Amino acid sequence: MSQTFEFKTEVRKLLHIITHSLYTNREIFLRELVSNASDALDKLRFAQAKGEAVNAPELELGIDISIDKEAKTITIRDTGIGMTREELVDNLGTIARSGSERFLKELSEKQEDPGNIIGRFGVGFYSVFMIADKVEVTTRSARGDEAATTWVSDGLGSFEVIPCEEGAPERGTVITIHVKDEADEFLEKFRLQSILKKHSSFIPFPIQLEGERVNTTPALWREPKSSITKEQYKEFYTHLTFDEAEPMDTLHISVDAPVQFNCLAFIPNMARDVFGFDRERYGLDLYVRRVLIQHENKDLIPEYLSFLKGVVDTEDLPLNISRETLQENALIRKIQQTITKQVLNHLEKLAKSDADAYNRFWNTHGKVFRIGYHDYANREKFTQLLRFNSSHHEDKDGLTSVEAYIERAKPEQKAVYYITAPSREAAKLNPHLEIFTRKGLEVLFLFEPVDEFVMDNLHKYKEFEFVAAETVKAETLDAFPDMEQEKKAEELSEGDTKTFDDLIETMKTILGDKVTDVRISRRLSGSPAVLASTDGATSSMERLMRIMNK
Ligand code: ADP
Ligand code: MG
Repeated sequence: MSQTFEFKTEVRKLLHIITHSLYTNREIFLRELVSNASDALDKLRFAQAKGEAVNAPELELGIDISIDKEAKTITIRDTGIGMTREELVDNLGTIARSGSERFLKELSEKQEDPGNIIGRFGVGFYSVFMIADKVEVTTRSARGDEAATTWVSDGLGSFEVIPCEEGAPERGTVITIHVKDEADEFLEKFRLQSILKKHSSFIPFPIQLEGERVNTTPALWREPKSSITKEQYKEFYTHLTFDEAEPMDTLHISVDAPVQFNCLAFIPNMARDVFGFDRERYGLDLYVRRVLIQHENKDLIPEYLSFLKGVVDTEDLPLNISRETLQENALIRKIQQTITKQVLNHLEKLAKSDADAYNRFWNTHGKVFRIGYHDYANREKFTQLLRFNSSHHEDKDGLTSVEAYIERAKPEQKAVYYITAPSREAAKLNPHLEIFTRKGLEVLFLFEPVDEFVMDNLHKYKEFEFVAAETVKAETLDAFPDMEQEKKAEELSEGDTKTFDDLIETMKTILGDKVTDVRISRRLSGSPAVLASTDGATSSMERLMRIMNK
């Protein structure tokens, strides 16, 4: 009995864009279908590893692709987990993939041709309609005894679901693509072969194209570093992220004690935000003895290292571990601690050996990285890796470490001073800066709202306390002589004081309870007045408090 379903609105929207784009990136349809086949095989292997009974257990795990030039079809089979009828209707009728959502979002924000950006996203199954005018998906679940079902659609408004009469797979999925006339280049074996080489060489299951094996690359992260070329790393990075650019940096870690694991991680050249990734989605792919256990496991890295992309493979976890127990797992925590230490060490080395490269890292990923002030165990190292613009620099592009600030500090100085401001211009205009400039004391400029929390929480580095410039009393700076004597505030005569008393009284009357007090200040020379806090909190902190108390 056949049944027709309408696609959900967002799928129709996606399909419309896919079928109307300029087709600069049509080849990624194969990457998407092969990656789905690989996911399905991963799921099957995971089920088997847990000791679950599956249908046709003797079937080998693999992907088989064939071309029929006469019929103008491409067929992709996998012996993976398959789908029940219900799963089929759910999975291929809605948008399962957040990649598609991000793609739609990016499209709505930019005026670019979809074809140009489609390759950067995992747009998923529906991308097949870039080259197909009809697609049949016949699938049989590895679980239970439900017969195979076929899904058919022309990718316009609806799809049909029919019980499969003949040619049903014993287990897994068979996708038959009816190739559009203007896409017949994809009926060439040579063409498909080069696409598979480019996008799918790291798929961990054998892929056969017309009976010939195309992918032979091993699990790269388990190979010795010395045997891996830069190109292989880059290819793997692209495989993982769809980012065609070189990664900013590559970390390949092998550890034997206290836990055994291999980790291959990359620092991308672009911040995650640029792609509109949601903050919540990050992590490393977790493998146990080459079996994928979980995509983007968040427990493997702290959030402040969420810019990392990569995989972890360990021998020390049981294959049948459940996702729930993973979260609490002490081994995973150990792995996280080790990766964190190694990444921080790596960044420290980079900062020492190539400051420009490190500053590039900071400018790209610093926004996320600075939330590492929570990481108590690595506090000192983390603090060394912070960078700020400061009054020492010529322009807004300068960056200093706290360490370098301290080296420039005055002999009597025991504090690192900072000012929070939306920009360098604003910081320079801040009246609180005056007295520091006068005394030749360097002040860090904090441009990110979170920076103040960073400084507040870290509190100090070595014996230097972090102090907001505006909370410093002028007297405490008496130890530091003015740089330019002539600019020193003139002593006030008695007559002056009287005049000021009158002025202050008038101001208090006008300002009323908007202020706690109005006082004469010794800290100013160029500016007539400054807003100061009475209880040591900075004005931006107070602003935040007010918002939170509302
Ligand atoms: P994603 O792979 O990101 O989930 P897709 O659009 O590529 O999104 O696929 C949608 C869903 O359809 C998958 O999550 C999966 O459940 C199902 N699916 C697609 N292809 C297969 C397949 N070959 N075998 C089993 N399930 C599949
Ligand atoms: Mg997919």
